[in-house]
Amino acid sequence: MATALNLGFPRIGKNRELKRQTEAYWQGQSGQEELREVGKALRAEHWRLQASAGIDSVPVGDFSFYDHVLDTATMFGAVPKRYLAYGEPGSFGSYFAMARGVAGEGGIAPLEMTKWFDTNYHYIVPELSRDMAFSLTWPKLVEELAEAKELGIAARPVLLGPVSFLRLSRAVDDAFDPTELLGRLLPAYQELLATLAGAGASLIQLDEPVLAGELPKPVLDLFPKTYAALAEAAGGAGLMLASYFGSLGSRLPIVRDLPLTALHLDLVRAPEDLRSLLDLGVPEQLSLSLGVVDGRNVWRSDLGQALKPLAAAADAIGTDRVLVAPSCSLLHVPISLDAERQLDGELRSWLAFATEKLGELRLLRAALAGEGTPEDLFAASSDVARSRGASPRRTRPEVQSRLKALESKDFERQAAHAERRQVQADRLKLPPLPTTTIGSFPQTAELRRLRAARRRQELSEEQYEEGIRGEIAKVIRLQEEIGLDVLVHGEAERNDMVEYFGEQLEGFTVTEQGWVQSYGTRCVKPPIIYGDVVRPRPMTVQWLTYAQSLTRRPVKGMLTGPVTILQWSFVRDDQPRRDTCLQIALAIRDEVADLEAAGIRAIQIDEPAFREGMPLGESERAAYLKWAVECFRLATSGVANATQIHSHMCYSEFNDIVDAIARLDADVISIEASRSDMALLRAFQDFHYPNEIGPGVYDIHSPRVPSAEEMEAQLRQALQSIDRDQLWVNPDCGLKTRRFEEVVPSLQNMVAAARSLRAEIG
Ligand code: GLN
Ligand code: ZN
Repeated sequence: MATALNLGFPRIGKNRELKRQTEAYWQGQSGQEELREVGKALRAEHWRLQASAGIDSVPVGDFSFYDHVLDTATMFGAVPKRYLAYGEPGSFGSYFAMARGVAGEGGIAPLEMTKWFDTNYHYIVPELSRDMAFSLTWPKLVEELAEAKELGIAARPVLLGPVSFLRLSRAVDDAFDPTELLGRLLPAYQELLATLAGAGASLIQLDEPVLAGELPKPVLDLFPKTYAALAEAAGGAGLMLASYFGSLGSRLPIVRDLPLTALHLDLVRAPEDLRSLLDLGVPEQLSLSLGVVDGRNVWRSDLGQALKPLAAAADAIGTDRVLVAPSCSLLHVPISLDAERQLDGELRSWLAFATEKLGELRLLRAALAGEGTPEDLFAASSDVARSRGASPRRTRPEVQSRLKALESKDFERQAAHAERRQVQADRLKLPPLPTTTIGSFPQTAELRRLRAARRRQELSEEQYEEGIRGEIAKVIRLQEEIGLDVLVHGEAERNDMVEYFGEQLEGFTVTEQGWVQSYGTRCVKPPIIYGDVVRPRPMTVQWLTYAQSLTRRPVKGMLTGPVTILQWSFVRDDQPRRDTCLQIALAIRDEVADLEAAGIRAIQIDEPAFREGMPLGESERAAYLKWAVECFRLATSGVANATQIHSHMCYSEFNDIVDAIARLDADVISIEASRSDMALLRAFQDFHYPNEIGPGVYDIHSPRVPSAEEMEAQLRQALQSIDRDQLWVNPDCGLKTRRFEEVVPSLQNMVAAARSLRAEIG
């Protein structure tokens, strides 16, 4: 008997119930109890759904009100003291204060947030102090296990493993390495495992995704002792270790020898890991959870192919020891295709979301267990694989020939930055320390109503466009009043920075309800790229020319870059990512040319996902950076010297990619900085960034209004590693998730900070 196992299910609910209820709670429109009830109902619904889909081992602990790393920190009492004023660990008070800060007087800044490996999911970075006393303070997982049990669900507790937890945390003041705290943290983990085992858990999953990348030897050496201690504490319950998003590589022998009853391998990202492990030999007690269904993409599996590694493993170790699994948690895909009513039949048949993937796991398990022949069980899947392979919708000859004709000059600006800078300065006439914003302005209820009315076809296209122009005029006026130097049009026409382009480009399709959690209650609806990319017509030009017609100050054109569009879409799996990215770059290049021709003097091409696309394996990184830089340059190099190219990145660790960022050769780049205390500036101490740069001084991920003094202090700090004629003043990111009440005073303060420094430095 083989087993079908799931690693995690989307939390947000098929109607985004969790988002709605949480936001209502934040707004004071509903109480704690109601929010807890919605959480409980969603857990029950998702457990039942998985069980009835034929999943034998259902995860518990994958649910979270905001983020599972924050949950882990809270469970073990790793709550920095300053948040305890807002409530006990585990109370919504301190929990949401850490997640998103508290606005107003007596408020507090949130913890840092950053990307979860190479995904667009963001986790809260736990902040650890040397004297932190860990203990089991929040029994979340124990309670949830009891809930599942009550419903008759055979649930498997899932939690972040201690080494990954510490590696993903940050020491206060970066004064020490968090893994030094392992000895102190371990007893709390042991207590939790013992409690879970006592409560009837027979298998407990510990996620150690840090194993998918290189680790310093001392960190790797922590695993054997740590897992020996954990296994002992778990007593009768077995431990399953899960790593995903990359190969275990050279870590495999160490992992193999840990006292585990199951080991999960991501065979979508690292199919070679199974062979390596079988060659090494699989210890007798060890079962293998094999991730053969892609948890990061939406394509229907070719089940015949997926069965091969399962069968190979079953041959080697016996069917009983094979667990059929998705490659990683299904957190990263939408819930179900059921909600999609507009997808055409052909495309739809190519897809599988979380619920459909559960069905694939069940079929694979059945085939492995010999409950029918693969031919019968997989008939539908095989038909789709064949028809998708033969579909003419995937290729466009004109795109193919344009790609073949590319030459090296297509990737180069006409002159070097030093020369461009002069021409641009003459044309734009900006003061020192110029101020700007990242693009979007708050998306008001009125704007959402406008969009909804259009969707329901209650508005004519003219009425809708009229409404958008009204919004644009409002933010242009506002920016002039505030005194910003380089303006933006505000992105009112965009529901989302990737989806907006996905809707207009050919080779893309968008979904109605394909939501995926990005951070907290923020969800995105990634488009799906299924074929060669064509831009049938200009995508942003009409809005930009309108915005520019209202003001003499420069309005920045605003586009999403090719790497980010690629990274935040579900990407076709039938050609290399690089090829798809070059196609998107050509489409953006055409848009840039049209904006320039329409008189737009500065154009920003956002690449917030540039760093996130980096493979976890060190050996693959250089190749990625090479093509990612190429794609950005292809998109941006068609312009004259006088056109100022901006780019923007956020939530990135820059230290290891500063030279790639310099190779982008953007004239100006704005980056996230304030939420990490300008830590990124350290990267620029050793590396002299050649072009212009704006480290964000206003953290827009929190409702807090920063003071002018605070931002001035950050700018002073920036001036220690960045020359004054290189420095720009801007927020961390776009303002769309904020409210005008917060944004207006914050930007006023930001402009005041820039002015006061300008006066000082002359
Ligand atoms: N221009 C986008 C905005 O302002 C950038 C968003 C992002 O970096 N994620 O919203
Ligand atoms: Zn950003």
